[in-house]
Amino acid sequence: KKSTGPDPDPTEFLFISMEQKMKDQSKPYDPKKSCWVPHDKEGFIEGDMQGTKGDLITVYAGGETKDWKKDLVGQVNPPKFEKCEDMSNLTYLNDASVLYNLKSRYVAKLIYTYSGLFCIAVNPYKRYPIYTNRTVKIYQGKRRNEVPPHLFAIADGAYMNMRQLAENQSMLITGESGAGKTENTKKVLSYFANVGATTKKKGEAEKPNLEDQIVQTNPVLEAFGNAKTVRNDNSSRFGKFIRIHFQPNGKLSGADIEVYLLEKARVISQQSLERSYHIFYEMMSDQIKEIKPTCFLSDDIYDYHYVSQGKVTVPSIDDGEDMQFCHDAFDVLGFSKQEVEDVYKATASVMHLGEMKFKQRGREEQAEADGTEVGHKVAKLLGTDGDDLYRNITKPKIKVGAEFVAKGMNVNQCYYSIGALAKGLFDRVFKFLVQKCNVTLETGLKRASFIGVLDIAGFEIFDYNGFEQICINFCNEKLQQFFNHHMFVLEQEEYKKEGINWVFVDFGMDLQACIELFEKKMGVLSILEEESMFPKATDKSFAEKLNANHLGKSPVFVKPKPPKPGQPDSHFAIVHYAGTVSYNLSGWLEKNKDPLNDTVVDQLKKSNNELVVTIFADHPGQSGSGDTKGGRGGKSGSFKTVSSGYRAALRDIFKTVHGSSSGQEVLLFQRFQKKWQRVKTVTMERHVSAVFKENPDWLQGTLDIYMKAL
Ligand code: ATP
Ligand code: MG
Repeated sequence: KKSTGPDPDPTEFLFISMEQKMKDQSKPYDPKKSCWVPHDKEGFIEGDMQGTKGDLITVYAGGETKDWKKDLVGQVNPPKFEKCEDMSNLTYLNDASVLYNLKSRYVAKLIYTYSGLFCIAVNPYKRYPIYTNRTVKIYQGKRRNEVPPHLFAIADGAYMNMRQLAENQSMLITGESGAGKTENTKKVLSYFANVGATTKKKGEAEKPNLEDQIVQTNPVLEAFGNAKTVRNDNSSRFGKFIRIHFQPNGKLSGADIEVYLLEKARVISQQSLERSYHIFYEMMSDQIKEIKPTCFLSDDIYDYHYVSQGKVTVPSIDDGEDMQFCHDAFDVLGFSKQEVEDVYKATASVMHLGEMKFKQRGREEQAEADGTEVGHKVAKLLGTDGDDLYRNITKPKIKVGAEFVAKGMNVNQCYYSIGALAKGLFDRVFKFLVQKCNVTLETGLKRASFIGVLDIAGFEIFDYNGFEQICINFCNEKLQQFFNHHMFVLEQEEYKKEGINWVFVDFGMDLQACIELFEKKMGVLSILEEESMFPKATDKSFAEKLNANHLGKSPVFVKPKPPKPGQPDSHFAIVHYAGTVSYNLSGWLEKNKDPLNDTVVDQLKKSNNELVVTIFADHPGQSGSGDTKGGRGGKSGSFKTVSSGYRAALRDIFKTVHGSSSGQEVLLFQRFQKKWQRVKTVTMERHVSAVFKENPDWLQGTLDIYMKAL
């Protein structure tokens, strides 16, 4: 949203006031006694050491005196480190000190803090004026140590590195769902749009400029790819890697977006506190008057079961306003009127598909249409024939030898078929939108180097965790491993430069057991893929195979926790870096195959709606000879299962990120209470303890060098 008022002063959200500094320095502190001890609610509380008894330390804290094991008691940093900007400077690096520092900065409205090479952000859930033009000016062209911690400093560092070294850069953003990855990604993009803005030539004032177009991809992607979940009202249900390309002179030259695995199940089903993709509710908002009549939509969202099983409104979201943003963005991005209309029609057809009804014909195992009005609406929206649609759903053609014969479907099979069609349609529309954005953002200007920004769907644990969660959590695991590994590679380079004799410890290996559980031969993914392709496999045989191969053999594959009341049993649990998740594997084999009714696909391939023809172009249909090489969509078409396509996509992305040198990383933390443990991923703390274990005398020396390297 464009702000109209005067540019507010960000100072109090970036700097500590003199008054606060004075207060902080006068905090009671006894270097010999002050310590941290664990606390149920607070994570850690400060106390006074009273004495030691062998392996135990007696501490007075929170009104009581208690003995603690030595390694549970952490030393408190001197007051000069209060609200310290870079935690790698702390004298005592322990979980408690790191968390305390983040918390006291957060309370003082300072949401960004460095931890060595990383920038940590804590979600304020409030709009602070720290992304304004005035703030951009504070950071532009400055060195990191000249200005307070901020995402813009990281972004500017990436930009300067790219220009000076002529090397590609990447910013990786990680954090659990709701931590603020997407918000920060948006701010980074507008920062680059700002610093790399192209100057307008005369007479071009009317044409949308590239910087606006880059920023405007967002309302479209969010409308179709974000949804309310229990953890986040605007949760990304897909991952994206955006590359901003620059000309040799540092001005923008274009951008491209790659997306990963949109959560399809949501298109036809939602949990009671969740919602489907924003666009469905936006289209129902009456903001764009022509949508409802063009798409044959009623005034009542509850007429459409597929999108009304959970919440249908979200207090923090104005669907009408967002509809307008999305509609305007289509315009800026160069979508034609026809394309926009076709996108709305295809989206509405998803809603109508859920209302098609079938009944059993006589006593046969054969379904027939139960009323044909809805199917005709769907067919009209998709530019095809309604009677054919019903026939192809109830009696698809299958190949027997060299011939095609009609195969009767029962009622359940028909409902399954329309569900798959709805999911397939929506997913393909989403990919089309991305592809179209990429065409627009390809300007023909020279692309000298790029800065990539990775924003994935964050780690999540629900009461019920299925196929979607394991895909999302696997991706998070990979990213976290990359972070840890990358951090230590960078560090090692610094040490080499300084001529230190350093034994390399790769902390990326911490996550190796979990990654291997997924990726190795007969790992979770290959068993899933094998079972998906095996006609006789069932959920039961899948579960048995998983257990036989991993239970009791891998330390990160464990028995599930008992379910919450009202939830079905889980089948297994995985110990992820961010927590242990119990998974229920019902329906995964089907979801992974994701089959569409080929006869219906063939019908749609011949549609007179251009969008529909385009989005199914890469599907082989009945004949088995699709245009599998054409366009980006074609890539996914060539994989047999969802998971194998996803695995390959992730491999590609990490290759790209790896190739773009000296990455900039942002860690995001959402809340403090109960989440203390999560901050363990602040790698500096582990790093120092590692040095310490190797050779205690090195600790101080290495810290000094580390700080110099910063
Ligand atoms: P997911 O993995 O579910 O996509 P996410 O990490 O992308 O989660 P966001 O959608 O970016 O999370 O953030 C969730 C919400 O938190 C935002 O809608 C916004 O309300 C708030 N928020 C996040 N970061 C900020 C910020 N820097 N300033 C103000 N509000 C923020
Ligand atoms: Mg997000």
